[in-house]
Amino acid sequence: MAVSASVSRPGRAVYILEKNMSFGQEASSRNSEVIHAGIYYPKDSLKAKTCAEGSHLIYEICERGSILYKKAGKLIVASEKEELKKLKRLLQNGRENRAAGLRILSAKDVKDMEPNIRALAALYSPDTGIVDSHNLMRHFFQKAKAQEADFVFQTEVRQIEKQGRGFKVSVRDADGTDFSFFTRTLINCAGLNSDIIAELAGIDIKKENYILKFCKGEYFRVGVNKSRLIKHLVYPVPNEKEVSLGIHATPDLGAGLRLGPDAQYVERSKANYNINDSRKEHFSRAVNRFLPFIESADLAADTCGIRAKLQGPQESFRDFIICHEEEKGLPGLINLIGIDSPGLTCAPSIAKYVQNIVEELI
Ligand SMILES: Cc1cc2nc3c(=O)[nH]c(=O)nc-3n(C[C@H](O)[C@H](O)[C@H](O)COP(=O)(O)OP(=O)(O)OC[C@H]3O[C@@H](n4cnc5c(N)ncnc54)[C@H](O)[C@@H]3O)c2cc1C
Repeated sequence: MAVSASVSRPGRAVYILEKNMSFGQEASSRNSEVIHAGIYYPKDSLKAKTCAEGSHLIYEICERGSILYKKAGKLIVASEKEELKKLKRLLQNGRENRAAGLRILSAKDVKDMEPNIRALAALYSPDTGIVDSHNLMRHFFQKAKAQEADFVFQTEVRQIEKQGRGFKVSVRDADGTDFSFFTRTLINCAGLNSDIIAELAGIDIKKENYILKFCKGEYFRVGVNKSRLIKHLVYPVPNEKEVSLGIHATPDLGAGLRLGPDAQYVERSKANYNINDSRKEHFSRAVNRFLPFIESADLAADTCGIRAKLQGPQESFRDFIICHEEEKGLPGLINLIGIDSPGLTCAPSIAKYVQNIVEELI
């Protein structure tokens, strides 16, 4: 959605093909809605750079466009002595990534700020917040439409053929009618299908290491009585061997509180949005080290999302792939693959990055 707003112009023919009834029915509406500050990602990675810029841009957009957000601030809490060193490393890394205002809090400082949390110390990030992701997407939708972009819903991209200096794209619409059109520039932002779309366009996705792994994250909602017991986002110190930031607590824009997401790799063919209610125990145990007041009986299944990850289980960090595929013999094709977290935060910055590529092409 952010890319559609950045590349559209009056007089330029831009079509956004979306297989669902509307925008925002997949990863972008099934996430924590956290505006990350950029603490975790390796310095100079695309994730780090677009997160730093993206978070500033999102706050600006929210201010200008009256989109609901809350700069609630975040605490990454150390529960064991060994984690204190990790907190310092995160502080250093976050500062290198230009995350503003980071500081380490003592156990007493944490108690003053959040009396119901148990912590030896914490890394405080005042600029981390949450945003109404639906309205953020609507903002991009309206901007793109005002710039004459055409959204074509219920239309699935099924085939792509390189033709001369562009691509013949074949799609199927809601009535099952197939049709095709020619485009000079093709931007692949297909989330969980972005590797498949790249393959259709002629990329050897195995050789290029573009194959996505699906990683499901479930959420549980905390009952109203306990949801007011914390005000900040509260995360554990991440386990370096794990692919996620660890099950955390996120107050929402109302008075609610959610726990999650966890991280479970799932087979692509079996992926679904069912929530396994029996995982309540696992969730309450995971947060009990720092949120001792949570019991499994307080939790109710909420929602879940699926991350489009390049990194498989036990594998090391993978960055976003945002690439004009000229060198692979496909000029005009721009692939965005592996846009997992913090992709929501990075969206406006990723969109600027793609816009720069497009302006050079046209
Ligand atoms: C559980 C979870 C928690 C997360 N938490 C956060 C967070 O707190 N903060 C943060 O910054 N990021 C977070 N993220 C990451 C963020 O949600 C994603 O990076 C971002 O939403 C990706 O956006 P996207 O447009 O690439 O993908 P999507 O929103 O999935 O959009 C891709 C679109 O392409 C369409 N499509 C696919 N194939 C086709 C086809 N063949 N033809 C036509 N249309 C097609 C799909 O229908 C879909 O609408 C989280 C992600 C998950 C899953």
